[in-house]
Amino acid sequence: MARIMVVDDAAFMRMMLKDILEKGGHHVICEAENGIEAVEKYKAYRPDLVTMDITMPEMEGVEALREIRQIDSAAKVIMCSAMGQQRMVVEAIQSGARDFIVKPFQGPRVLDAVAKAMGGTGTGQSAVSPV
Ligand SMILES: [Mg+2]
Repeated sequence: MARIMVVDDAAFMRMMLKDILEKGGHHVICEAENGIEAVEKYKAYRPDLVTMDITMPEMEGVEALREIRQIDSAAKVIMCSAMGQQRMVVEAIQSGARDFIVKPFQGPRVLDAVAKAMGGTGTGQSAVSPV
């Protein structure tokens, strides 16, 4: 079980992710709707794990990822991407993201990525092998 912060500018996406994560036994302890809010809330709440949308107003996901990793080099961040964002995903992985999940979200894939990022073995569905 992990304490998770969900970051996405779309309330509907946050709601869907929260539902998947809580049904998987995790606690969504806070939410943020842009990168700036994500960085502030990371400092305040210190979640075990962050799901980070890529495209957001104010500050985009990859930049927020970098700022969070500067605050906490061990921060565990999973990027949430849409189709056609491969370049951003590669940039995010190079900036320390643990994994990425692709919209529309599939419950088992999301929970597998969380389990792996938290140090478990998952079920081998992850698209990114550990570095
Ligand atoms: Mg977005």
